[in-house]
Amino acid sequence: MKRLAVYCGSATPADPRYIELAREVGTSLAGQGIGVVYGGGRLGLMGAIAGAARAAGGDVIGVIPEALVSREVANYDCDLTIVATMHERKAAFTRLSDGFLVLPGGVGTMDELWEAVSWAQLGYHGKPVGILNAFGFYDGLLEFNRHMAEVGFVRPAHQGIIMAERELDLLLTRMRAHEPITPIVKMNPDTL
Ligand code: AMP
Repeated sequence: MKRLAVYCGSATPADPRYIELAREVGTSLAGQGIGVVYGGGRLGLMGAIAGAARAAGGDVIGVIPEALVSREVANYDCDLTIVATMHERKAAFTRLSDGFLVLPGGVGTMDELWEAVSWAQLGYHGKPVGILNAFGFYDGLLEFNRHMAEVGFVRPAHQGIIMAERELDLLLTRMRAHEPITPIVKMNPDTL
């Protein structure tokens, strides 16, 4: 894995552990020679991970839609690409990365996570999707993921698309060993 798309919150929670986590992850990815592809802003966990990765000498690519340049405080201290639409941004994350790493976040992070999962199901990509379940933040989501499969809305094999661990290194080890699942169909990524 040379580069991971990192999805996380653009907010700064009151609990300082979240920003601290993002900094640690940024530093650790840079230390392991793994580049970061992310939303290109300076706010919240997104800004923290990018800043820490850069400070540790890592490669950071930011992709931000024009309309969010001032709102999300575009980060010019990275390899920044300004795109026209949110859709272009997300297609770029998929194209430029070797996998998806999800840290705690809000609705935008959820949008990106479930898109990575559904695009794996549809065969747009065969890349690992890892959730860093720090502080048990995603316990409820993982339970719901199981529930969807139990009820029959997600094929049992596809329930395992999401890998989740509380520790980054354990998660990265699993992501490196990832075997692509059998998708429902094999969509052409050029049609994204
Ligand atoms: P959030 O987790 O809500 O703080 O958002 C994290 C990032 O996801 C921000 O850079 C948002 O611009 C981005 N994002 C991507 N898709 C969406 C969406 N459909 N709604 C809101 N934010 C989104």
